Amino acid sequence: MTTISKTEAAPALCRACSAPLEHTFVDLGKSPPCEAFLRADQLEQGETFYPLHALVCSKCFLVQLKDYVDADSIFDDYAYFSSFSDSWLEHARQYCADMTERFALNGDSFCVEVASNDGYLLQNFVRAKIRCLGIEPSWTVAEAALKVGVPSIQEFFGRETARKVREEHGPADLMSANNVVAHVPDIKDFVGGFQELLSPEGVVTLEFPHLARLMDQVQYDTIYHEHFSYLSFGTLLGILKDQGLTVFDVQKLKTHGGSLRVFAQLTGSGVQPVEKSVKALLQEEKNLGFRELHTYLRFTELVEKSKRETLKFLIQAKEEGKSVVAYGAPGKGNTLLNYCGVRSDLIEFAVDRNPYKHGRFTPGTQIPIFPPEALEEARPDYIFILPWNLEAEIRQQLSFAREWGAKFVIPIPEIQILD
Ligand SMILES: [Zn+2]
Repeated sequence: MTTISKTEAAPALCRACSAPLEHTFVDLGKSPPCEAFLRADQLEQGETFYPLHALVCSKCFLVQLKDYVDADSIFDDYAYFSSFSDSWLEHARQYCADMTERFALNGDSFCVEVASNDGYLLQNFVRAKIRCLGIEPSWTVAEAALKVGVPSIQEFFGRETARKVREEHGPADLMSANNVVAHVPDIKDFVGGFQELLSPEGVVTLEFPHLARLMDQVQYDTIYHEHFSYLSFGTLLGILKDQGLTVFDVQKLKTHGGSLRVFAQLTGSGVQPVEKSVKALLQEEKNLGFRELHTYLRFTELVEKSKRETLKFLIQAKEEGKSVVAYGAPGKGNTLLNYCGVRSDLIEFAVDRNPYKHGRFTPGTQIPIFPPEALEEARPDYIFILPWNLEAEIRQQLSFAREWGAKFVIPIPEIQILD
């Protein structure tokens, strides 16, 4: 069950630097937690809606949500299995190969992944006979990892867990934290865990969606309750520094609509030379205005425009008697559907590859979710791609839809109709 966290009533202070939060980044109204897919028997019960009001800190520029929803409840019935995305599996495979080569990992190394999900990434190290351990807060997916032979423990990560793991398994040579740093309420304690667990020569890599892409691509649908922090490179670098970690490299990735992979080591270790990429990206962000408050205060206007364009398309399609079906029912789709007020009157149903979601309904908007086969049966005029970050992969999977002349629709940054 979802409960309001104890911190909800506390004054809003920045989770990174404790400055008071006084500025709105964007206010998306209220939504239920985005992974709270409903069973048919829940449709006539009430749903709890929490604010989706993102604030920006005027001191460190961390864009953030207050923790309206308790982290324990989020992971209660967690439905996201990383292995359902082919391109994500390939991304993980390539990552393991690259890290093994760059940091000369071998049979004596120890790799730890935080938020290891169903073992989609660490299975590559298991195959390469490199010792590894996954730390994952959700039982549902941690059990799936154990089943495929990936050593995993069910824990939230932070300094305390890091100390326990170090005692039992020794220090880590590589720590990976992909798409998790933004999802932890206590970002300082989480990052501090790396400092506790890394070996003196150890390296931690973090991947997270880049705030610069969120802003220039108007990816407002990546804002949801479980996603507490929206990070620029400069802001994350400061948080790492405060916890005794020094960034030595950064790469831009295409994943999740534009992510960063940040490499850090213990401050003072100096094993890895600091690459030019660090200074270059800091300068790039400065040029984009990321060290000035007014840059952030312009975002709301772009989001409101995007909403109007999306609704315009859906209403027009409806008036022309065309059918619209959503492909994919990702958590972030629910921010868009709730913020725009799109229910089954505008999108008849959604299909998703994840069997957990079949026969369920989207939270708040109650759009039914079916297996992908339902597309071929319904032959809709438009296929509305909610997980737009997987657009290329999805269009390929759905090439059969050309048979009946279906068009693909991408809602972000502005509505696009593709043949
Ligand atoms: Zn701050």
